[in-house]
Amino acid sequence: MILVSECLCGVPCRMDGKSKLVPEILKLVEEGRAVSVCPEVLGGLPTPRKPSERLENGRVVNCDGEDNTEAFVKGAQESLNICRSHDCTLAILKSKSPSCGKGIIHNGKFDGGLVEGNGILTELLLSEGIPVMTEQEYLKSISI
Ligand code: SF4
Repeated sequence: MILVSECLCGVPCRMDGKSKLVPEILKLVEEGRAVSVCPEVLGGLPTPRKPSERLENGRVVNCDGEDNTEAFVKGAQESLNICRSHDCTLAILKSKSPSCGKGIIHNGKFDGGLVEGNGILTELLLSEGIPVMTEQEYLKSISI
């Protein structure tokens, strides 16, 4: 099984109350090959919600400077539990997110800038030995 970001499946769970549907990823869920999670919703955050970004020190704050790290960590842990209970061996997660991003995320300055790093869920999954791809990496892999 594959763990996927829920917003990539057309669920409007993003901070702006919208989704980011990637039909090829929704298809994985419809075929019973993937299970979707939104770690920020699982962490108890509302939708819509204020944008959050990771700081250099790893913590997560929203654009008003409120520290959300606890909710992000709780949501990542819940997502890992779901990942384990479905025997997921791969995750395909939404790029640049403070939860789901892999390799490159927003820089914590809320200026649109990017920086090398991983979201909280991605960091946890990688530390548990579960490989993570972005949606772009997945689309590239199936187009070869
Ligand atoms: Fe999508 Fe992940 Fe953000 Fe939820 S936390 S909206 S799944 S990118």
